[in-house]
Amino acid sequence: MTEVSVTKDEVPPTGEPLVVLDGVNKHFGALHVLQDINLTIGQGEVVVVIGPSGSGKSTLCRAINRLETIDSGSIALDGKPLPQEGKELARLRADVGMVFQSFNLFAHKTVLENVTLGQIKVRKKDKKAADQYARKLLDRVGVGNQADKYPAQLSGGQQQRVAIARALAMDPKVMLFDEPTSALDPEMINEVLEVMQQLARDGMTMVVVTHEMGFARSAANRVVFMSDGQIVEEQSPEQFFTNPRSDRARDFLSKIL
Ligand code: ADP
Ligand code: MG
Repeated sequence: MTEVSVTKDEVPPTGEPLVVLDGVNKHFGALHVLQDINLTIGQGEVVVVIGPSGSGKSTLCRAINRLETIDSGSIALDGKPLPQEGKELARLRADVGMVFQSFNLFAHKTVLENVTLGQIKVRKKDKKAADQYARKLLDRVGVGNQADKYPAQLSGGQQQRVAIARALAMDPKVMLFDEPTSALDPEMINEVLEVMQQLARDGMTMVVVTHEMGFARSAANRVVFMSDGQIVEEQSPEQFFTNPRSDRARDFLSKIL
């Protein structure tokens, strides 16, 4: 397969560097799942990560949240290397909001409790302040009237919006979304994407793994295309979707578009 040479930073990050990955490598046994990853995410930027299944997108997100360790290289948030353990690590997890494909709400807690828990335990807020902020965020994602229900009583789209509110409640510096709409019924996808669009417009720094090309086109500052553990392209959405440089990206797009 002939590859056009990789062109990095076609679109330079905007804003001050917030998340900086420098020469990051990660193996799972013999599998080299992240291969010399260099990526800078600027303050207020929306970076969409796309690529085939198994290319390392989730591992990349998990490494930024320190849910996975890395073998070499460095990851820094706001100029500081990621902490390894203890209280510092808990604070990092709060600073890096994460929304998963599978919602991951606490099933035995109400919607409101899901959004107050971290504020009280990690951010040390009193219950009243936490409740107030939670209700404001639940309103913002359009589920303010569901506060006293349990997750199982909500639709998938509502649960995912609660998960977004829960992450936002920690006032994160950056939000990571790992295929946040992949587990949703089609009619619920847009209600979640709209919340994410609004967050992007409000200036949140976001890393979004998604195959929702409409979202990528309208919200992304940059598209990062991953394949086999490598960043193969970093482009503007217009450039990436109309004129991808690599065979691997062209091949991937031809299968999903
Ligand atoms: P993507 O999110 O792009 O589908 P992942 O980051 O989940 O890719 O996985 C990349 C590769 O690493 C896949 O081959 C996957 O099977 C493997 N992998 C992911 N997590 C683990 C793990 N905990 N142990 C072993 N292999 C893993
Ligand atoms: Mg994944």
